[in-house]
Amino acid sequence: MDVIDLRSDTVSRPSLAMREAIKDSLVGDDVLGDDPTVKLLEAKAAKIVGKQAALFVPSGTMANLIALLTHCGRGDQAIVGSESHILHHEGLGAPALGGINLGIVHNQKNGRMDIDEINYHFDSQKSSSKLMCLENTQNRCGGTVIPQSEITEIADIAHTAGASVHIDGARIFNAAHALETDVASLVQDADTLSFCFSKGLGAPVGSVLTGTEEFINRARSTRRQVGGAMRQSGIIAAAALFALENNVERIGTDHINARRLAEGLAQIPEINVDLNLVQTNMIFISSEKIDVVALQNNLAKHGILVSSTVPNTLRLVTHLDIPEEAIDVVIDRVQKSMEIMIV
Ligand SMILES: *Cc1c(COP(=O)(O)O)cnc(C)c1O
Repeated sequence: MDVIDLRSDTVSRPSLAMREAIKDSLVGDDVLGDDPTVKLLEAKAAKIVGKQAALFVPSGTMANLIALLTHCGRGDQAIVGSESHILHHEGLGAPALGGINLGIVHNQKNGRMDIDEINYHFDSQKSSSKLMCLENTQNRCGGTVIPQSEITEIADIAHTAGASVHIDGARIFNAAHALETDVASLVQDADTLSFCFSKGLGAPVGSVLTGTEEFINRARSTRRQVGGAMRQSGIIAAAALFALENNVERIGTDHINARRLAEGLAQIPEINVDLNLVQTNMIFISSEKIDVVALQNNLAKHGILVSSTVPNTLRLVTHLDIPEEAIDVVIDRVQKSMEIMIV
C-alpha cells in the first residue's frame, strides 16, 4: 500500500511534466545575471502578486530572513505573531544574524492579532519597531486566513508609525483562494511579500521575496551575505515557473479534500476538530481521551503519516499528491485506531 503522507504540503514530489520543464530549462550563472529562467520566474512572480520586483531564494526561511535583514538594522524591532513561523521555525535567524529584536503580538486561536498590542508596539515613545510581520495563511493556527480588511487595518498602524509591513505568505495562494480574491489585491497594503513554491504549488524547492525595485535591489545584496546567491538556478526556477503556470488553480482541490477530511474526522468519537479553523489545506486534531503521539504512531504503522507541530495536536495537510480517494482511507483508519486505543 502506498504511504499517505499528510505531514506537510512540502512532501509532494515533482510531477513528470514538471521534470520535463526542468530538463528543458535554459540556464546561466544567475550571480552574473545570466540565468534567463530565473529572470523570467522573478518577473512572473512579481507580476502575479502585484509588486515591482522579485528575488528567487532557496527557502521561505531565507526569504523571511532577507526581508527582516533588509527592512531592519541592528537594534531595530520586527513585530511578529506569537504563533508565527518566524518565531517558532526559523532558528531565530533574524535575532542571531541581524541583531533584530522580535516583538511579540498574541495570535488568537483563529490566527487574528491583537490590535491593541500592535498599537502598543508602534507607539513611537516605546520602541524602535521598524517592521510589522503578518503570516497568511497562519500555519500554526490551522492554516487560517487573514482577510484584506485586516491587513489594511494593521498596515495603516505600521505605516503611520513609519514602519514597513512584510507578509510571510508561504501559502498566500491558499489564502487568496479561500478568500475568493487574487493575491495582488490581498497583499496590496504590504510593502514586501514572500511565498513558497515548495508548499501547495508543488515545486521541489524555492521561494521568492517580492517588493519595490529599490527594496529588491538591496535584498539582492543581503541574499549574497547569507549565502543565497545561486548559479545555474534556472534548473529549480523552471520547476517553480511550471508550478506558477499549472498548479495555482488546482489548490482549491486541496481545500475541498481538507474540508471533507475534517468533517469525516469530526464524526469520530473523542476526536476534536474545530471546523471553523479548517479554512485551507490543514486540519488540526486533538483528543482528551488519548495521547495524540500514540495515535500518530499507530497511523504510521498503517502507512498514514501526520505531523505534530503544535503540542498535543496532530496536523494533517492535503496537497497535490493526496488524491480524493485517500480521504476515506484516512478517516476509516483514524476511526479504527481510535477504537483500538480507547478500549
Ligand atoms: C514553510 C513556511 C515557511 C518557510 O519554510 P521553508 O521550509 O524554509 O521553505 C515560512 N513561513 C511559513 C508560515 C511556512 O509555513
